Amino acid sequence: MSTILLLLRRIDRWRFLIIIRGAEYHKEEIMNEITISVIKADVGGYVGHSSMHPNLITKAIQSLEKQKDKGTIVDFHVTHCGDDLDLIITHKLGEDSGDIHKMAWDIFVECTNVAKELKLYGAGQDLLSDAFSGNIKGMGPGVAEMTFEERKSEPVIIFAADKTSPGSWNMPLYKVFADPFNTIGLVIDPSMHEGFTFEVLDIFENKTVKLNAPEDLYDLLCLIGASEHYIIKNVCKKDGTIAAATSTQKVNLIAGRYVGKDDPVMIIRCQSGLPAVGEVLEPFSMSYMVTGWMRGSHWGPFMPVSVEDAHPTRFDGPPRVIALGFQVTNGTLIGPRDMFADPSYDLARQQANEIANYIRRHGPFEPQRLPLSDMEYTTLPHVLNKLKDKFK
Ligand SMILES: [Mg+2]
Repeated sequence: MSTILLLLRRIDRWRFLIIIRGAEYHKEEIMNEITISVIKADVGGYVGHSSMHPNLITKAIQSLEKQKDKGTIVDFHVTHCGDDLDLIITHKLGEDSGDIHKMAWDIFVECTNVAKELKLYGAGQDLLSDAFSGNIKGMGPGVAEMTFEERKSEPVIIFAADKTSPGSWNMPLYKVFADPFNTIGLVIDPSMHEGFTFEVLDIFENKTVKLNAPEDLYDLLCLIGASEHYIIKNVCKKDGTIAAATSTQKVNLIAGRYVGKDDPVMIIRCQSGLPAVGEVLEPFSMSYMVTGWMRGSHWGPFMPVSVEDAHPTRFDGPPRVIALGFQVTNGTLIGPRDMFADPSYDLARQQANEIANYIRRHGPFEPQRLPLSDMEYTTLPHVLNKLKDKFK
C-alpha cells in the first residue's frame, strides 16, 4: 500500500513539475513578444490646424521618459504630422492594455493643458470624453497596435497622416500586400507567394470580414475601393503572422458631429517573408487622392513628406503623410529614419502640387468638395436645415 502511495506522490510531483515548466515556457514566450502601440491625437494646432507647437512635443517626451524610467514601457518616440501628436511606444503589456491607453490619455490631457495655456487652436479637440474609461478607443484618439515576437532583424515603418481619414491606407495596403506590379516579392519570393489575409472593417456596421489575396481579390477591391465605408484594419500572413495594423477610429462618427478629421496612423513590418522596405514605400510614389483637406470636406492629393515638411498650409493642406523607419531591437526603437526625406519622392510631391492646383479651381463644387453623404457629419447640415422651409 505504502509503495502505491509513494508512486502516486511521485507521479503528482512530475505532473507539478511539468505544469511549472509549461508555465515558465509560456511566460518566456510572452516575455519575447513586444507590442508596438502608435497612439495619436490632435490636442491643439499651431498656427490654426497647420502644425504642432514644440512645447507639446517636449511635454510628451518628458512624460514618456518618466514611464520608461519606471519600466512601464520599453522605449518610445514622439513625432507629429501637421497638428497631430503621435506617440510611438514599445512595451510588454500587449494590445488594448488599459495601463498603456491610460498613460497615453494622461499625456494627451497634459499636452492639452499646455495647448490651453498657449491658446493653441482647438486645444484638446480629439479628447471627446472628460475622463478615461478603460480603453482609449472610442474616446477620440487614434490607435494602431500590433504584438509579435522579434525576428532576427525587425524593420518596421510607422506612417502618420494629417488632413485625411483612415481609408487613406486602403490603396497602399492593397498595393503592398496584393499587387505584384508594386511588390515583386509576391511573385518571386516563395515565402510571400501564398499571399496575405486582409481584415476589413465596415465602419458603419462595426463588423469585420477577412478576405484572402489573391483568392478573393475582386471581393476585396469591391469593398476597399469605397474607402469612406470599408477600412483595412490589419493584414496578416496566411499563418496569422501580423504584417500591418491601422487606426480605424472615425472621430466624426464617434462624436456624431464634426470635430476634426480623424487623421490615421499605420504600422507595417518589413522584410524576411514580408514585403521589403522599398515595396512598402512604393505606393506613395504616386500622389493618390484622399478625403480630408480643408474642414475635412474635400478630395485632395496625398503628399509624402519629411517630418520637417509635415506642416500643411495651402488651403490647410494638401493632405500629408510621413513615414518613420525603425529597427526594433529587444523592444528598443533604433531610429527613426525619415523615409520620405528622399529626392525620389520629389515627383510625387510635384504631382501633388499640380493636382492641388487643378482641383482647387473647382472651389465649392464636387469633386473637390465631398459628396453630400460624406458631408453629413460636417457643419453643412446646419446650413441645409436653415433652407428647408424655403423649399416649396
Ligand atoms: Mg490633423
